Amino acid sequence: MKKQLIELQKYLSENGYDAAYVSNPTDINYFTGFYSEPEERILALLVFPDNDPFIFAPQLEVEAAKKAGWDKDVFGYLDHENPFELMAGHIKDAVGTPSNWSIEKDDLSVDKLESIKSQFPNAKFPDNLSRYMENAKLIKTDEEIEKLKAAGAEADYAFEVAFKAIKEGRTEQEIVAEIEYAMMKKGVMHMSFDTIVQAGANAANPHGGPEKNPIIPNELVLFDLGTIHDGYISDASRTVAFGKPDDKSLDIYKVDLEANLAAMDAAKPGITAAELDKVARDIITKAGYGEYFIHRLGHGMGTSEHEFPSIMEGNAMVLKPGMCFSIEPGIYIPHVAGVRIEDCVYITEDGCEPFTHTSKELTYID
Ligand code: MN
Ligand code: MN
Repeated sequence: MKKQLIELQKYLSENGYDAAYVSNPTDINYFTGFYSEPEERILALLVFPDNDPFIFAPQLEVEAAKKAGWDKDVFGYLDHENPFELMAGHIKDAVGTPSNWSIEKDDLSVDKLESIKSQFPNAKFPDNLSRYMENAKLIKTDEEIEKLKAAGAEADYAFEVAFKAIKEGRTEQEIVAEIEYAMMKKGVMHMSFDTIVQAGANAANPHGGPEKNPIIPNELVLFDLGTIHDGYISDASRTVAFGKPDDKSLDIYKVDLEANLAAMDAAKPGITAAELDKVARDIITKAGYGEYFIHRLGHGMGTSEHEFPSIMEGNAMVLKPGMCFSIEPGIYIPHVAGVRIEDCVYITEDGCEPFTHTSKELTYID
């Protein structure tokens, strides 16, 4: 059984919870090595302090869970069956009637919780396992870091493809298609999020996406992409020059790169998340672009890009070896241009190491 599961059992035991219902597919994968997005069907990992855990899954997923290496029980259900009634039967067979539950309150729908309650009418659900997960995932093991490195190497390959795909007249969406096609041919079946390609002024809208507009020369082109490798993600951004961008665009690139490199240099054990954000933000603010850096410096990452630590103002968390997060200063000037330079890193004993190694010196594409 994975060390992470043994830790969870210990947590349940120490806090007096007699069952945990893990519903978030990413977290089920974290504990079992099996990933599936069940959509409207029911997929859960049931964990108990002193008994073996089991997976409860749609029947059509049972073989896949075993194939993924899960060596404990997997119980299936058919579409016409009542999943919660069946699941309750397996729980009662295993441990009797749990009365004090830990559930992922950030993930479990009210409807599903009510279905569980209907099977265990006297049970209480006091604990939010989502909080436990945030802390459990904070420090990555060496094995997890190896998987993150492999995902990073795939992102570096994607950048190689991406830079070659820039051609006058090609649209942002066509370049996305080139990148993802090449990754699939390489055996990467899932990107960690929808690939972003934004050129010129469109890149000034960081939550916008690739559009149908053709790429024209003498603009910056921003790429943000990542893959999933064995359940672990990569997430990186590069901004390159297609032709000769104007001086303003080149200046924001220079400042953003300086902010990125200063933060990479400052990221080490002992600095707080807020202090690290400030290292990058001060550089951008001094250059006069502070109002255009409109998000936090970075986010924790691992099995997803929504983990701890959040690298932002107000977060006093002290960075420690094994923490993994993005460093991604961005400058977005509406109607002009946008630049983001992003690597995800892990904290070492005396600094940090990036998972992606594509050059950050401004690359010119003819
Ligand atoms: Mn990104
Ligand atoms: Mn990111």
